[in-house]
Amino acid sequence: MHLLPGRFLRNALPMKNFGLLIAVCCMLIGQLAAQSSFRQTLRVDFSRCGNAELDSVAIEKMYFIRKNIISIDSMHMVDNINYGAYKIEVFSENGICLFRRGYSSMFNEWKTSDEAKTGFQYFEESVLIPWYSNMAKIVFSYRDKENVWHVQLTANIDNNAVSKTIIDIPEYPVKDFQIKGEPTQKLDILFIPEGYTGEQMDDFVIDCENTIKYIMQSSPYKEFSNAISFRAVMAPSEESGTDFPQYDSLKNTLVNSTFNTFGTERYLTTFSYHKVMDVASNAPADHVVILVNTEDYGGSGFYNFYTMVAANNMYSDFLILHEMGHSLSGLADEYYTSDVAVQDFYSFEVEPWEPNITTLVDFSTKWDSLVTDTIPIPTPARIIYRKLTGAFEGGGYSATGIYRPAYNCTMKSVVYDGFCEACKAAIRRTILWYSK
Ligand SMILES: [Zn+2]
Repeated sequence: MHLLPGRFLRNALPMKNFGLLIAVCCMLIGQLAAQSSFRQTLRVDFSRCGNAELDSVAIEKMYFIRKNIISIDSMHMVDNINYGAYKIEVFSENGICLFRRGYSSMFNEWKTSDEAKTGFQYFEESVLIPWYSNMAKIVFSYRDKENVWHVQLTANIDNNAVSKTIIDIPEYPVKDFQIKGEPTQKLDILFIPEGYTGEQMDDFVIDCENTIKYIMQSSPYKEFSNAISFRAVMAPSEESGTDFPQYDSLKNTLVNSTFNTFGTERYLTTFSYHKVMDVASNAPADHVVILVNTEDYGGSGFYNFYTMVAANNMYSDFLILHEMGHSLSGLADEYYTSDVAVQDFYSFEVEPWEPNITTLVDFSTKWDSLVTDTIPIPTPARIIYRKLTGAFEGGGYSATGIYRPAYNCTMKSVVYDGFCEACKAAIRRTILWYSK
């Protein structure tokens, strides 16, 4: 039994651009350092709407979060890793990039499904941006199948109007589990309870503690015991459990989670992302993990969006690692035999942006440096290579034309604590980025 989808990449910056990059970084750091410390967080709620041919963005509202939930410092405002199907950037009036985040969401999966060929849908999306008063424009872009970025929407940020917009965000208590330092200096993971009633919040605390063990006792996370903090928002649901629409079983829960997303039974997601952000806006978070009070097998992960997993399944230890692989570190699914709703998800003509699959179009931008000279590329599926790093054909929902780093991996099969070396390297990079 394999697990679910979520997806996401990497375009390594060509060496010739390093000088320019350093110059831009120096300008940016100088500009940010000259400003006062963060006071507020800008939240932008929007919808992504369209079909197989159209992918567009409509802003619903911009407003300030008045709580102190900042989890990144000025060194982490601009993300240059270039992962994700989408990106959001904020510029000053004179064109300096003050904020950038790549991410992926449910829409870029749905738009490759059969349903998107005839239907039209909108999906909720939202972004939290540590606020600087010289932020003037927000720009939304999407990546096409050839990895070319296209601007979808540019909007002015009216500082006056935004500061007068007050939205009542529900406030909930926050429980600290392992706080390893200031939020700006650590990777901060925030748990959200889904389908736990008020009487079941003690169960949620136990599920958080177990999930922390699953993460921190596995490799490479266990190498970073002082770099990762965990908190939880103690927000109860009206009813226990989650939705199984295929059985007409619907529950009134905190973030409206559901199995059977896009017709795949084990695909456990939520379409109510604004509600997720309402709850998440109660505490600092670099990454949101939604624990669902169910024993059924399922989950989902979207890069820089959210992780959602069944908290009480026999394989919950595997589920959290696999889904957080997608959503925290941008890892792709390495399986190719399991049914998923997406079709022709990757182009064979370019390198996918995800760090753990390759088309071999430009293998040097992937895990080439982890492969010893004696390993043939592509790597035959023979027993002598079974535990080594190479490029094995099959991955990213395709049996041919896409290659994965190892014969087996937590991103391929239901294996706890079994990340291949390329996946481990990507996870290490993510943790270091947040904690350095
Ligand atoms: Zn892997």
